[in-house]
This record gives sequence, C-alpha cells and structure tokens, in this order.
Amino acid sequence: MEKAERLDHDHLWHPFTQQRDWVAEEPLMIEAAEGTELIDSEGRRYLDGVSSLWCNVHGHRHPEIDRAVREQLDLVAHSTMLGLSHPGAAELAARLIAIAPAGLSRVFYSDSGSTAVEVALKMAFQYWQHRGGQHVRKTSFICLDQAYHGDTVGSVSVGGVPLFHSTFEPLLFEAHRAKPGDVDDIGRLLAMREEEVAAVVIEPLVQGAAGMLTHPPGYLRAVRRLCDRHGALLICDEVATGFGRTGTMFACEQEGVSPDLLCLAKGLTGGYMPLAATLATERIYEAFLGEHTDFKTFFHGHTYTGNPLACAAALASLDVFERERTLVRIQPKIRLLSGWLAQVERMPEVREVRQRGLMVGIDLGEHDPRLRLGHRVVLEARRRGVIVRPLGDVIVLMPPLSISKRDLRRLVEVVGQSIRAAYPVTELDSGAKGRLDAALLEAA
Ligand code: PMP
Repeated sequence: MEKAERLDHDHLWHPFTQQRDWVAEEPLMIEAAEGTELIDSEGRRYLDGVSSLWCNVHGHRHPEIDRAVREQLDLVAHSTMLGLSHPGAAELAARLIAIAPAGLSRVFYSDSGSTAVEVALKMAFQYWQHRGGQHVRKTSFICLDQAYHGDTVGSVSVGGVPLFHSTFEPLLFEAHRAKPGDVDDIGRLLAMREEEVAAVVIEPLVQGAAGMLTHPPGYLRAVRRLCDRHGALLICDEVATGFGRTGTMFACEQEGVSPDLLCLAKGLTGGYMPLAATLATERIYEAFLGEHTDFKTFFHGHTYTGNPLACAAALASLDVFERERTLVRIQPKIRLLSGWLAQVERMPEVREVRQRGLMVGIDLGEHDPRLRLGHRVVLEARRRGVIVRPLGDVIVLMPPLSISKRDLRRLVEVVGQSIRAAYPVTELDSGAKGRLDAALLEAA
C-alpha cells in the first residue's frame, strides 16, 4: 500500500463508516478533480455521481469559482463575524434574500447543514420565549418519520432514522413524528399539540437521507397552511434540495411556500467550502430586538461562521447560476434522466425509482444487511469509473447540475450494470433473470 493509504488505515476514523470493513479494503484516494470527474492518485478518472456528497453544483475546479477564491485569498482568508463584518458576507446575504422565497429577510451564517438546522431550532424556540405569555410553553417540535437534519444533538432530536438516531435517544429533546406525506396525520398532531409546538421541521419535497423519499404534490403547501392555522413556525431544511437539485433554485418554490426559517448549506458555495445559512423572516428577527440589558440576543455563533473564502465561493457560484443559465439548462437533462430511469425501474432487482429533478434514489428493496448489497453496487460502479454512495440498499444518484447529457446517460447505464453485477444471483429465480436480461438489452 502507498504511504497515504497506510496513514489512513493507521490514523483516520471515517464518518458513517464501520472501520473494520474500511481497513479490510484499499481506500480510494482522490487527489484531484476536473468538471464532473474525480481523479485518484494513479490518475484514474471517475464520474462524480453524488456531487461529492450532494454539494458540488457547477463541477470541480470551475474557473470562475476558483478565481474568486484565489482573489479572496489575496485579501484575507478568515476574519470573524463576531463583532466585525466583511463585504462578502453582506453582499451574499443580500443575494440570498433576493433569490429566497418571499418574506425571508435576514441571514444568519454557520458552517454546515447540521448547524444551519441547529440555529433554526434554537431561533424558533427562543422566538416563542420572547413572545412571552402562554407562548413560552411552545417548546417542542414536529418532524417527520425518516427525517434527517444532521448529526448534532439538536438536529438528531428532530431526526427520524432509527439506525442513525435511536442510540442517542436519552440525549434528545422532545419531538413528535408525523407520517411523511400524510396531511391528516400532521394535521392531527398539530391540532392536538397546538399549545406546545414551536415549529414543524421538514425537508421539502424530498427526504434525502431517508432514501430519496418523495412527498405527494400539495403536501408542503398543506403543511404550511396547517402551521399557520395552529400557530407553529415552519422550518424548511433545504440543505440537500437547495440550489437547483429538484429543478428549481429551492424546492419550496414548487409549492409556492415561504417558510419562516430556511436552512441552506451543501450547494451554497457550489460545493467548494463549508458554509451554511439560516434565513429568517423579519417577524422572527424583530422578536430578538431589545435593550442590551434585555438579553434578547441570539447567543450562538461558530468560529468560522461566514468565512470570507466560503462567501467568495458562494457569490461566484450564484454568478455562475446566472451566466450559465444553470436552472434552464438542467430541464432537458431532468426529462432525459426520467426516461432512462424508467428502464432501470423495469429491472427485476429494482423495487422502485424515486426522482425529483436531479435527485434520484434507486430502491433495491430489503435485503439481508450482511449482503451489503448497496456497497457491492458501489464497488462495481467504481470498477466501471463511476462514484456513487448508497443509503442502505438505495442507490443514490445526485450528479452536479453541470453534468453533460452524455455523462448523465453513462451514470444511469453504469449503475444499472453495477446493480446487475452486484446482485446475489441466488436470490433471482430464472424467470426474474430472463426479465432482467430483457430490460438490460433494452437499456443498452
Ligand atoms: N439536512 C439535510 C436535509 C441533509 O441532507 C444533511 C446532510 N446530508 C444535513 C442537514 C446535514 O448537513 P451537514 O452534513 O453539512 O451537517
């Protein structure tokens, strides 16, 4: 093994990774990237099929974003937002407000999706404390089953993926879980707990980490109406769906919904740097105003909050959205992708394909976890020059918005072939195998 690989095995501890499995395999070391390709230490190229964990937007080493970061480096790499400001942070705040759903008027920076949600939860909680009277009893939250909002203890409290979250149960604050996509269920919960619910937290349109679970049309709009009826704030977590992934800049737009708090991260910098933002309405912001000695201040702030290099990347990314007409140019890709995925869905190993824009989950159904089917698909795809990452036995595709139609087709084809190659043949009866062959022939 090369030196870096050995150092990895000897000293690193990877996220969401069983290290015993990790050290049994040789790590793939990514040394460089270009456009939608990642390049390993031996110079082999791989299509970045999950946008480097759902964040790259315009491709790697985009000249405009690269230049913006370099120019910022010549000014200052980091200064603080606590007691000081900087032009990039202010300009970016104005640009975000201009493109965000109506009514959002204030930007609070942090540095990851988890912290963007953590900030929104604390703001919602403190907002009701400031409102006073019987509102101080509004201290709990409603979230969805299978929700994922990050890994800090607050965002885990409003999570709903038992595999990730149940271990931490004793540490978590109170949250009530509603059935995703079921208007009556969340309506009932809100009516029953009207006096105690501070906010509803939701991933709009698509629950990403749940395996790209999609909600029925109208669901988000109905949740917005229910929140208004029952006096709860609505927090939309667009950490995954934001910045074009579902086909519009923000998923909320598709239902004409404006949340009270909006969480952004991942694609905010084009996938270049850790930066997050929590956007709030003026109504929430104003509740925190007062005399210094009222102590209505929002006591929260991370060291690297609003980092200038990250803000420069984010501003450049928004410029690229405009100059390259990214949102217009992804529309035909989304349609083509739907057509190709329809063929994948016909494969007998595939239970269901879920798609919103360029967010895709190919659900292989339930299998014995010892088979590590999702992981086997990933290894097969890697051998064929494509990087994907599964969520259990759901294969996720979420390419950069800049992917070419040719590469998009290659991504779907390779993943189809990889599913077939990874599948434990013993689980297939001969009839299913025949149907699989026919589906693949058609897809070829
Ligand atoms: N919210 C959602 C909807 C996410 O998908 C994620 C990450 N996948 C997060 C929050 C957490 O973001 P981060 O990993 O940057 O903390």
